[in-house]
Amino acid sequence: LPELPEVETTARGLRELLIGARVRGVGGIDWPRMLPNVGPEDLRQALVGRTVQAVERRGKYLLVRLNDRAALVLHRKMTGNVLVGPAEAPPRRHIHLVVSFEDGRDLRFVDPRKFGRVYYFPDEEALQGFLAERLGPEPLAELSAEELANLLRRRTGRLKPLLLNQLFLAGIGNLYADEILWAARLHPLRPANSLTPEEVERLHQAVQDVLGEAIGRRGTSLSDYLDATGEPGRNQDYLRVYGRAGQPCPRCGAAVSKMTVGQRGTWYCAACQPTYVSSAGQ
Ligand SMILES: [Zn+2]
Repeated sequence: LPELPEVETTARGLRELLIGARVRGVGGIDWPRMLPNVGPEDLRQALVGRTVQAVERRGKYLLVRLNDRAALVLHRKMTGNVLVGPAEAPPRRHIHLVVSFEDGRDLRFVDPRKFGRVYYFPDEEALQGFLAERLGPEPLAELSAEELANLLRRRTGRLKPLLLNQLFLAGIGNLYADEILWAARLHPLRPANSLTPEEVERLHQAVQDVLGEAIGRRGTSLSDYLDATGEPGRNQDYLRVYGRAGQPCPRCGAAVSKMTVGQRGTWYCAACQPTYVSSAGQ
């Protein structure tokens, strides 16, 4: 966490709050490794006096575009939050970047575990090069069932690790991968290239439904995640399998199972997501 629905919710919130705001100052940087491609002083010089022109999301990255074609890019990793509020709001712990605006508000990057990263790209080419090396298609905007079928056909790996691979699809993490596979009734260890056309349809529909519904509920707040105004999401009340080992599957009533796939906890229903057995007839 946060994954695509949480980053999308934050991007929409920041868009309402920040477009047109002019940067007055940059401070609070107490953790140099948070800035992999720019120094604190260069970042300050690059941002002060610029105006926020757009806020977008790509995968799990937040893109804050400025009026000089540059972009500030934030990745929250495990525990990062991006909060906007009055500069005089009481200080919080774990703030590692503050961008203050001329209208008296601050953007604060709050990150207890310090895995989050902040990048600066001076132009569109640099930004697109960075994203293209890291991200495959957007699952909601750029993916038809036919394209998904083509992507899966070339893959011999298992479904769960493949869904977590950001170069395969952008923005899906451990929580939504499990929810998607449950909705599609597909076992997490199913070989990607073994899906029938009907199963690919189901997977495609599950990606749209699970991510779309989670965005509608403003994301999942299991531990740290808050939106741009500091409010939690509501999707944690609607999880079907994630984190629910031993509880009844909402579809069939069997107990939800847990296993480890690629070092990640993986929750599924062994009854409605059966193990794949390849047979001569297939
Ligand atoms: Zn079930």
